Amino acid sequence: MHYPDTRLFIGGTWRDAADGATIPVIDPATEETIGTVAHARQPDLDAALAAAEAGFAVWRRMSPLDRSRLMRRAADLLRDRVDRTAWLMTREQGKPLAQSRLEVLAAADIIDWFAEEGRRTYGQVIPARAEGVMQIAARFPVGPVAAFTPWNFPINQAVRKLAAALAAGCSIIVKAPEETPASPAELIRAFADAGVPSGVVNLVYGVPAEISEYLIAHPVIRKISFTGSTPVGKLLAALAGQHMKRATMELGGHAPVIVAADADLDRAIPQMVGHKFRNAGQVCVSPTRFLVEDAVADRFLDGFAAGAAQVRVGNGLEDGVDMGPLANPRRIPALQALVDDAVAQGARLVAGGRRIGNKGWFYEPTVLADVPVSARIMNEEPFGPVAIVNRHSGLDGMIAEANRLPFALASYAWAQSHATIQRLTTEVEAGMISVNHLGLALPEVPFGGIKDSGYGTEGGSEAILAYLDTRFASISR
Ligand code: NAD
Repeated sequence: MHYPDTRLFIGGTWRDAADGATIPVIDPATEETIGTVAHARQPDLDAALAAAEAGFAVWRRMSPLDRSRLMRRAADLLRDRVDRTAWLMTREQGKPLAQSRLEVLAAADIIDWFAEEGRRTYGQVIPARAEGVMQIAARFPVGPVAAFTPWNFPINQAVRKLAAALAAGCSIIVKAPEETPASPAELIRAFADAGVPSGVVNLVYGVPAEISEYLIAHPVIRKISFTGSTPVGKLLAALAGQHMKRATMELGGHAPVIVAADADLDRAIPQMVGHKFRNAGQVCVSPTRFLVEDAVADRFLDGFAAGAAQVRVGNGLEDGVDMGPLANPRRIPALQALVDDAVAQGARLVAGGRRIGNKGWFYEPTVLADVPVSARIMNEEPFGPVAIVNRHSGLDGMIAEANRLPFALASYAWAQSHATIQRLTTEVEAGMISVNHLGLALPEVPFGGIKDSGYGTEGGSEAILAYLDTRFASISR
């Protein structure tokens, strides 16, 4: 298969940047340059804004049923093209091919779900105080959206924004990741080929800060959605506030995993090993701080470290590989500094802890134990294949540690006692908790964080409300 050069998609046409600028795309498993991506500058952004404005005027008037039909056709095209799209994703992002396939198929499900949800954006008729008065609250699409999506899930992070926006009747400009441009372009292509009118969906790449500053401030854009790190999220939320734009922020996490003394370790360990090293830990909901009750701490640590040692690391295109490289070279020194700092502060390095080889951005599945809370890794999102396993004497301490950080996206718990589970689901401060299984991120359930992990949800029926304004009409006879 051939890896293409990726172009911008503006106003229904694939095009180069006005000044012809491109950025190279690198395969993280081989460090080869495999293609280029067009690099948008202001004239391209102006064209995308004009297209999104025109596209909105058409799309908002189309009936939700017709919009839904086009969206479902896009989902089917994505499914038909899963092999090629997954190959592109693995080539540019590094994750194993099976994980890329799942991501593409999950995206198609997300589109289907939002396509149908768009037909249910009900308003209300509110009983009036005066006779002959009708009071109606109705929902209208907020307007053209600017969405900024990262490289860890090149399609999944974009599709949640795109599908919710389109289902609500909004047009969108997606600023997709420069590191992994070709697979999100296939997502956009599915919508274009399905017959979504020109200008409704637009795709740009470039310098993220340049594009976000320009689009967020621009009067055409009415809504911002960003997925990425907390510091960047705070910057963009402030900019959105300055221009009174609505915003959804899906930011970093540092997920605690509470393992109580009565946990079923035979289920917990394999599921948590798989989840930790999925996508090389570059996942906002990746389990990071394992807080394990004393009675099962040794067994858990031994089992987890043994599981980590069995993770097969390699080029995601090869059969039997569980974990690919990190998606960009920045992550290697970033991770190494976190691991070295933890060890210098007294943590035990139980597995991994180093880059693998010197070609491709591979890092060992790593387990640290007894990490002091002063270590940087206890406070900063590692965003890589590193697990922290710390022992605790009881539930109070585990809950306090879970809640210590400003991050509050995903959390996990393994326990049998109903009283324990009830306490954890109410007292752990996180946008999401999954108990005794992996149950997050389905299209129909809320997905999002609280505290410094952001605001708004990108799943479930609430997600579509983020793209709708409520307007009120009071009508007298
Ligand atoms: P980064 O903070 O530089 O960038 C994170 C993402 O935000 C990237 O996609 C980047 O293109 C984008 N970005 C950065 N500055 C921007 C700006 N001014 N305007 C618009 N977009 C901007 O970090 P990175 O090195 O790319 O990734 C590492 C960190 O990012 C991780 O530690 C993690 O916290 C976070 N991250 C989170 C997610 C997530 O799913 N929540 C995804 C990717 C990265």
